[in-house]
Amino acid sequence: MPETRQILPDPLANWRARTAYAVALFDSNDFDRAAEAAAESLNYAETSGLAKGSVLIARSIASRMAARALGEHRLARREIDALLLARTEEQLQAILIEAQAEKLSYEIAECHCYLGLLAWTRGEDALAAGRYVAAIAASRVAQDEVLEAETSYWYAYLLAGQGAFDEAQSLLAGIEALEQVLAVPRMKLRHFDMRFRIGEMAGDWRAAFDHHRIYHELVVEDYRRLASARAYTMKLSLDLETMRRKEDSARLERERLLEENLRLAAEQREAVLASRTDPLTGLGNRRELQLKCREWAQSGVTHAALMLCDIDHFKRINDVFSHSIGDIVLSRLAGLLGDAGAEGGLAIRMGGEEFLLLLPDTRAVDAFAAAERLRLRVQDHDWSEVAPKLAVTCSIGLADWSLADSMEAALQVADANLYAAKNAGRNRCVAPAT
Ligand code: GH3
Ligand code: MG
Ligand code: MG
Repeated sequence: MPETRQILPDPLANWRARTAYAVALFDSNDFDRAAEAAAESLNYAETSGLAKGSVLIARSIASRMAARALGEHRLARREIDALLLARTEEQLQAILIEAQAEKLSYEIAECHCYLGLLAWTRGEDALAAGRYVAAIAASRVAQDEVLEAETSYWYAYLLAGQGAFDEAQSLLAGIEALEQVLAVPRMKLRHFDMRFRIGEMAGDWRAAFDHHRIYHELVVEDYRRLASARAYTMKLSLDLETMRRKEDSARLERERLLEENLRLAAEQREAVLASRTDPLTGLGNRRELQLKCREWAQSGVTHAALMLCDIDHFKRINDVFSHSIGDIVLSRLAGLLGDAGAEGGLAIRMGGEEFLLLLPDTRAVDAFAAAERLRLRVQDHDWSEVAPKLAVTCSIGLADWSLADSMEAALQVADANLYAAKNAGRNRCVAPAT
């Protein structure tokens, strides 16, 4: 809600914020801007229907700050705003009358002090001195040492201006006995500034030098405090930045590891797949055979028919048509084999031009017809597509495998039958003797 932030709905809170701003400027020795801010704050208090008490306080703050700003102008020999001076004096007079009626000693002291300052600004030293003396007396009644010191500084400055250096010095020396005053860093700074100025006016170079040294040390201390606060803040933001960087690099590292993990997992999958697959034909290899048999055993398959299929005179095909044509023949045969084993069967490339087709839950005798179909499909395939005049046949040896037997023993039987088929003239199937 930006509107409510811009216009505070509560006039009292609004006025307080404005006043706090003026006081902050005053505390940072920015007297002109503090006076301006206080005047605006007073204007606000008068025009926004605040209670009389608040308006009086606003008036008191505004006039004190204006008086102080004017005093500083005189101190620095800068131009004086005569109109502001007259108006401020009038305001302070009015406040003083009310304070006296109420016997408010602190307010009385303050009014005297700043009325004195305004008189001094105007060059009316005697009037100013009277005000200062009254202010010091009233601040003692109010037991406010800071106000007493503040008045004494201005009074001492006036005395020094008149050449009454001893009096001025002893006034300032008296302040050093006031505990509250030098405990306030701002006042301590002001005190030694005043002592230095008055020492200088008196031509007491030793005192001026000593006090300036203390003043200087205080300023340095102030700067050091400020610098160390700033360094601390910088260190904090640096730490924050380092933490942020660490967090960022940790996040990046986490992301990198995650990616690496995904890549490794994919690689592993590929490697596993590759280790089970023959790259030329895409059929499973001997390892796949092993794994599948294990799977079958676990899923309750108790037996299978084995068809060991070997291309006839493949060496010749390579020799006559080239090795790459031989490769195409191997791939085509793998396709035909895959089709034959499509329904629950398993086609494996055992190596070279030797393939194996397994039909689970089937007896070799019953698989014979399927073996014959496969043999004929190989024989009748349109091989001229691959190379003109190319003809391919294969021989198949069958065997039975059951859970009780080892695959190796079953393969030996199939191999023996394949050998028999080759010996019988090739392009034929041989089933095990029943
Ligand atoms: P048989 O009828 O008795 O089986 O005779 P064959 O020539 O088919 O048998 P042999 O074992 O004498 O030759 C097999 C040939 O297969 C030898 C080898 O160079 C070839 N071969 C093995 N693997 C590959 C392959 O991946 N690609 C090709 N193009 N040829 C291969
Ligand atoms: Mg062969
Ligand atoms: Mg062979």
